[in-house]
Amino acid sequence: MAWDFSTDPEFQEQLDWVEEFCRTEIEPLDLVFPGAAYSRNPKAKALVDPLKQQVKDRGLWALFLDEELGGPGFGQLKLALLNEILGRYGSAPAIFGTAAPDTGNMEMLAAYGTEEQKRRWLYPLMNQEMFSAYSMTEPQGGSDPNLFQTHAVRDGEEWVINGEKWFTSAGFHADVLFVMCTNGMFVVPRETPGVEIMDYPAMHNHIRYNDVRIPLDHLLGPEDGAKVLAQRRLGGGRIHHAMRTVAQVKRAFDMMCERALSRESHGKVIAEHQMVQEAIADSYAEINQLRLLVLWTAWTIDNSSTQEARTQIAACKYTCAKVLREVTYRALHIMGSLGTTNLTPLQQMWASAPTMAIADGVDEVHKVTVSRNVLKGYEPHPGLWPTEYLPAKREEARKKYADLLAGDDDLAAWADHAQRRAMRG
Ligand SMILES: Cc1cc2nc3c(=O)[nH]c(=O)nc-3n(C[C@H](O)[C@H](O)[C@H](O)COP(=O)(O)OP(=O)(O)OC[C@H]3O[C@@H](n4cnc5c(N)ncnc54)[C@H](O)[C@@H]3O)c2cc1C
Repeated sequence: MAWDFSTDPEFQEQLDWVEEFCRTEIEPLDLVFPGAAYSRNPKAKALVDPLKQQVKDRGLWALFLDEELGGPGFGQLKLALLNEILGRYGSAPAIFGTAAPDTGNMEMLAAYGTEEQKRRWLYPLMNQEMFSAYSMTEPQGGSDPNLFQTHAVRDGEEWVINGEKWFTSAGFHADVLFVMCTNGMFVVPRETPGVEIMDYPAMHNHIRYNDVRIPLDHLLGPEDGAKVLAQRRLGGGRIHHAMRTVAQVKRAFDMMCERALSRESHGKVIAEHQMVQEAIADSYAEINQLRLLVLWTAWTIDNSSTQEARTQIAACKYTCAKVLREVTYRALHIMGSLGTTNLTPLQQMWASAPTMAIADGVDEVHKVTVSRNVLKGYEPHPGLWPTEYLPAKREEARKKYADLLAGDDDLAAWADHAQRRAMRG
């Protein structure tokens, strides 16, 4: 029997270690030195590097990569279970070598890079000796790649890139920028002359590429292959975001339940008020619906490919935004006035829900993908009535019993009577 919702004991031990490590090492670090895991400050690094070493010693570094690329090769299902823990702690993805946007860029390099490109960029990115950013969206429109204009022109031994990108996350911090052009995906060192980073937005950068010259071997994958590479990158990124969202909504749920048992109002603990119970019951069901969707998608990727699982990945994308919005809102509401402050993580978690519905592609586009792909398995009904139109189905079914009904008047009369009664409802 292949349907199994249990975790094998050996891997459960790893999960238990991760849970304990995150709670006792990463959470205190995040509270006292926020942002240390991403900093180049030597004192911050001295705090963070030993933690990374512990993760490496445990064989848990760069979890998303296959074994031959230096990761543990767990596959997506185990990664989902790990991310259900890591997603709860701000810097855990960085300390486990799985932080976006580097992960997606590494996936592209692993899949499409030449040996030289892997040596130059993939391995340093894996070791966090280098950081990267992904420059795809343009100011005039993000959802439709056909609107992108950034273009590379070959000039002798160089490519010359011109264009403008918007919302390149952590572009200011990156050593290399993966720039999606209309005719290919290019790797551009940030210090290259002509890379102009605007003052704002501060975190997700607006970047102009003005006559940026890079060597020919900075084209990643085939010429004109940018959309294929982008899909490869974004498919993985979306499912990893969804895995971490499961962690976030469970965290909000834990806060909601603890608070419901801790406060009184109108003579009883608020957990005894039915509308609070409804909030808890709905959240419980929605979180588990999301979790099972994500785990099933991860299992599908492991057993086929990211491409095969694209409908499920798209469904995870908009479902996680919705569940995050609903559950964090309820948790915040049950927390009362305290929930509206930044004295608990809830306010920030709730505020991140609209972002979740836009980053990695707006929900609408993913809903269109799901609907289109699902409809490929259907056809219009052939005549006037739908296939499930019962009078027609009954007429057809009667043919199966034609001989029986013809030879037994009583049975035929009873069948007519029963059918008339069924049609009256
Ligand atoms: C936190 C965050 C991080 C990001 N990081 C990066 C990054 O590192 N690199 C990068 O290149 N980009 C990044 N982005 C940009 C992201 O990819 C785009 O925001 C996204 O693709 C949407 O593009 P847009 O913002 O131009 O919105 P638009 O395309 O202008 O869409 C706006 C609205 O129009 C409607 N809409 C658009 N298309 C459709 C449709 N087909 N059907 C129905 N309604 C539609 C929807 O209501 C949508 O919300 C990031 C975004 C966020 C929020």
